[in-house]
Amino acid sequence: MILLKNSEQIAGMRKAGALLYEVLQTLKEEVRPGMTTMDLNLRADELIRKGNAVPSFLNYNGFPASLCTSVNDVVVHGIPSETDVLKEGDIISLDCGLVLEGWQADSALTVPVGKVSKAAEKLIAVTEQCFFAGAYEARVGNTLGDIGAAVQRLAESQGYGVVRDLTGHGIGRDMHEDPAVYNFGIPGMGVRIRKGMTIAVEPMIVEGDWHVDYGDDGWFVRTCDHKLSSHYEHTLAIVDDQPPELLTYPGYVWKEEN
Ligand code: MG
Ligand code: MG
Repeated sequence: MILLKNSEQIAGMRKAGALLYEVLQTLKEEVRPGMTTMDLNLRADELIRKGNAVPSFLNYNGFPASLCTSVNDVVVHGIPSETDVLKEGDIISLDCGLVLEGWQADSALTVPVGKVSKAAEKLIAVTEQCFFAGAYEARVGNTLGDIGAAVQRLAESQGYGVVRDLTGHGIGRDMHEDPAVYNFGIPGMGVRIRKGMTIAVEPMIVEGDWHVDYGDDGWFVRTCDHKLSSHYEHTLAIVDDQPPELLTYPGYVWKEEN
C-alpha cells in the first residue's frame, strides 16, 4: 500500500532530509586517503545524533553500522571496518539514513578518494546525472516506468550497466515503504505517480555488467566482474504538478535541460 503524505507530514520529512544533507556533505568533504571506513561510520553516527536524530541503518535487519561504506566494486551495503583503509584512487559510496521526529530520510553519494581515474570520475558524474534524469520524471501523471526508463536510457547510452537486484522505494515513517522504484523500465508502465508520494530514487550504475554477487557477511553486494560501481540517492516528494522536491537536497532548483 502506498502511503501518501500531506503537507504537514512532508514538512517533517523535509526537516529530516535537511539534516541528512548536512551529514553527507560533511562526510564528503572529510573523505581522505588513509582513513578507515569505520572512521566515516563513527563520524556519521556522531553527526546524526548531534542533530537529535537516530541512525536508521544501525540494527536494521541486524546491520551493524550507521553508514554503508561501499568501496570500488561494492555496489551497496558495505560494512564499515577498522581494517578497511581508503587509498588514493578508490571510490566510495556513502549511503546513510536517519529518523528525526519519526520521519525517515535516506540518501547516498559516491565520493572519489584523492585523485581518481578519469573513468571513475565519469562513472560518478553519469550516476548523478542518471538520478536527476530519473527524478525529473517523478511527476503527477507520469509512472514509475518513466523514472526507470530515464535512468536506464542515460546509463546505457554511456555504455554502463544498471544494477537490477536493488531498487529505490517509498519512504516515510518507515525507511522502506511501497512502491519499489526500479532503475530500469518502460515509459508509461507501472504505478502512476500521485501528489503526496514520497520516494527514494537511487540508481546503482556499473562500469561493466550489471550482475552482482552477495558477500559472505550476508550484506555486501559486489559486481561479478569486479568493475566499479557508483550509487546516488535522494529522498523526494511529489508536492505539486512540477518535478519533485528533493528533501535530502534542500534548495535544489530544477533546470530546464533536465
Ligand atoms: Mg540509501
Ligand atoms: Mg534507499
